[in-house]
Amino acid sequence: MSKAVIVGGGIGGLATAIALSRRGWDIEVLERAARIEALGAGLSLWPNALRALDALGVGGEVRSRAREEGSAGIRDDRGRLLSRTDVAAIRDRYGLPIMLHRADLLEILRAAVPETAVRTGISVTGVAADGVVTHATGEVTGDLIVGADGIHSVVRRAVCGDIAPKYAGYTAWRVVLAPTEPMGDLGETWGRGERFGFAALPDGRVYCFATANLPAGTETDGLAELRRRFGDWHDPIPALLAAADPAAVLQHDIYELPPLPTYVSGRIALLGDAAHAMTPNLGQGACQALEDAVILARVADEDVDLTRYDRERRPRTRMIAARSGRIGVVAQWSWRPAVAVRNTVLRLVPASAQVGALGTVLDWTC
Ligand SMILES: Cc1cc2nc3c(=O)[nH]c(=O)nc-3n(C[C@H](O)[C@H](O)[C@H](O)COP(=O)(O)OP(=O)(O)OC[C@H]3O[C@@H](n4cnc5c(N)ncnc54)[C@H](O)[C@@H]3O)c2cc1C
Repeated sequence: MSKAVIVGGGIGGLATAIALSRRGWDIEVLERAARIEALGAGLSLWPNALRALDALGVGGEVRSRAREEGSAGIRDDRGRLLSRTDVAAIRDRYGLPIMLHRADLLEILRAAVPETAVRTGISVTGVAADGVVTHATGEVTGDLIVGADGIHSVVRRAVCGDIAPKYAGYTAWRVVLAPTEPMGDLGETWGRGERFGFAALPDGRVYCFATANLPAGTETDGLAELRRRFGDWHDPIPALLAAADPAAVLQHDIYELPPLPTYVSGRIALLGDAAHAMTPNLGQGACQALEDAVILARVADEDVDLTRYDRERRPRTRMIAARSGRIGVVAQWSWRPAVAVRNTVLRLVPASAQVGALGTVLDWTC
């Protein structure tokens, strides 16, 4: 039996543990946190990710705890529709996009990993070129070492040296709340240098997210800042903000990773945010981690040479990360004339062209 050491018990690490254990591998997941749990936020999963989850045998359960994404679109800050996403056409052509709570996905993935395979409270401090993993209480190695330890990965150093994530220029807030009245259409509103979006979760709660151009590291007073920025935007944004609990608001600056020269070195492989942390504009970061997991397990199981994984995953994830980054740049424009041009272009692009353009991202099969 082959053995894999997986550093990081997030979405990518747990998915890899499932994929490898289904192939008969012995697994050890080393997770720094004391418990496997997710911060309170929603997560959209696109049909490509659902195909990966089906390959892991958990697609049905994930769908049963998720909500089909409803009618979506982009509005301007006065609520005028700029672009409508044809969700029915996306579903017919590529499959169903869904929305769920991040904690539910992690719980489903965790339950599908053998109980004894996950060791929490273990912080990995380094990985040597020969694959020896050092952590706070000792050393361990395996036939495969997986760096699934997120954007600030320590495993990445063993694969391609120090490569620092780059600030995208904006910060993001997220909050899950229970609205007091029905919220109507779901979608996103683009202003000048700031955006607000919301999406229904399956249990009647609503996931809201917002962004604003700010210098890296700017601390804000959370909900008060959101109310100042978005409190006079169109309905139902003020009502959503009124229903939010200040203690539930999360804020994270958005960073992305420059393209890496490789995702593999010897028997060490990177996946998920450790390999290609991207901006959230396409909602594809976790989706790509799930794809990575399925492909890495197949390559590691069939082939001694991990470069096949690198060849298969690096071009695709680079393409998606670059596209997501470009959308963020345009969406965060703040100069009034540029925003006017952007909004006019958005109004003119037919919904069918948008659906077609998603093909290269959503058409993936394992
Ligand atoms: C605002 C925002 C919204 C997003 N929305 C979406 C969305 O709708 N859809 C989507 O697909 N993606 C979305 N994403 C992206 C998604 O969250 C990430 O791409 C995904 O969580 C990456 O998973 P991962 O397992 O690679 O990394 P992580 O989730 O970062 O997990 C890494 C794990 O490794 C552990 N770890 C780190 N260092 C060590 C160490 N030294 N030793 C041991 N353990 C360690 C961490 O504790 C963590 O548990 C969003 C991201 C943001 C910021």
